[in-house]
Amino acid sequence: MAKIFLTRRLPEEGIKLLEEHDLEIYEEDYPPSKEEIIAGVKGKDALICLLTDKIDAEVMSASPHLKIIANYAVGIDNIDVKEATKRGILVTNTPGVLTETVADLAWALLMAIARRIVEGDKFMRQGKFKGWAPLLLVGADIHGKTLGIIGAGRIGRAFARRAKGFDMEILYYDKKRNEKLEREMNARFVDLDILLKESDFVSLHVPLTEETYHMIGERELKMMKKTAYLINTARGKCIDEKALVRALKEKWIAGAALDVYENEPEIEPELVNLDNVVLAPHIGSASYETRSKMAIMVAENVLAALRGEIPPQCVNPEAK
Ligand code: NAD
Repeated sequence: MAKIFLTRRLPEEGIKLLEEHDLEIYEEDYPPSKEEIIAGVKGKDALICLLTDKIDAEVMSASPHLKIIANYAVGIDNIDVKEATKRGILVTNTPGVLTETVADLAWALLMAIARRIVEGDKFMRQGKFKGWAPLLLVGADIHGKTLGIIGAGRIGRAFARRAKGFDMEILYYDKKRNEKLEREMNARFVDLDILLKESDFVSLHVPLTEETYHMIGERELKMMKKTAYLINTARGKCIDEKALVRALKEKWIAGAALDVYENEPEIEPELVNLDNVVLAPHIGSASYETRSKMAIMVAENVLAALRGEIPPQCVNPEAK
C-alpha cells in the first residue's frame, strides 16, 4: 500500500481508483499553505496537486521516496519540473481531456463580452429594463469577423474549429505551424504583430513559460484595434494585468474577457469597476464530465508510477 497526499478532494471517480492505497486528503475548499503541503508530502510516495500549489525543491525534499507529482491540470507552470527531473520524480498532467471544455468556455467569454451579456444580466436584476430600445446595450457582431489565436495547440485549435459556423477569418501565431488547422479552417499563420493589428478577437492559448510571460503588454495592447476584444483562458501571467486595466479604462481596446489572472486569486482591483470586462473565476475546465475525466487521468498516472512504469501523461520521462 502506497502513501498518497492529495492537496484537495477530487471527483469520486478518481478517488475510487486509488482506494487500495493510503490517502491523505486536504479537505478544505481553499489551497493549503506551503507548510501544509510540506507536512502532507512527508513520507509519501505520491503527490496529487492543483495548479494553485507551488511545488518546488522544498516540497520535494519533504519525502525522500516521492515517485510522482501528478498535477490536476494541463498547465505545469506551478511545478519546478527541472528540479523534479534531477531528483528522479516523475511529473504528469491532464492534457486532452479538457481541451474541448476549455474551448467552450473561451467561446462563452467571447460571446459574453461582445454581446454584453453580463452587463445585460446586471441591468435586468437592477430592474432597469423599460422596454426595447434602439441603442440599448449595443455590442459587436461576431460573425464575419477576424479571429486571432495565440497558441494553436490542442485548445487553440479546438477554439478555432468552433468559429466555423460564424464565417470567420482565422489568423494564428505559434512557435510552430499547425498545418491541420490551416487545412481545416483555412487559417493563416502570421507573426504576433500582424495578428494583433488585424484581429477583431484575440484569444490566448499558450502555456505560461519564460517566453510567454507578459507576452501581451502595453505595446501589444496598443497595437490592437480599438474595436477589438481580448480573451484569456491560458494563464494570467501571459498578460501584463496593470497594462490591461489601462487599456480598458482608456479604451485602447473595446473589452476583455478573462478566466485567469496574473496573481490569482487576487485581481487588479480596478477590474471590478469596469463594464468592458467579463470576469470568470478560472473555470475553463469546470464541467462535471471533464473534471471527472481529469480525476481518472490523474489516478491512472499515479497508479502507473507506483507500479514502476512511466505514466501515460508524463512530461519528464527522462526522470526515470
Ligand atoms: P498545447 O501544448 O497543446 O498548446 C500550446 C501551444 O502554444 C503549442 O502549439 C505551442 O507550440 C504554443 N506555444 C508555446 N510557447 C509559445 C510561444 N512562446 N509563442 C507562441 N506559441 C507558443 O496546450 P493546451 O492543452 O492547448 O493548453 C494550453 C494552455 O491552456 C495550458 O498550458 C494552460 O496554461 C491553459 N489552460 C487553462 C485552463 C483554464 O482553466 N483556463 C484549462 C486548461 C489549460
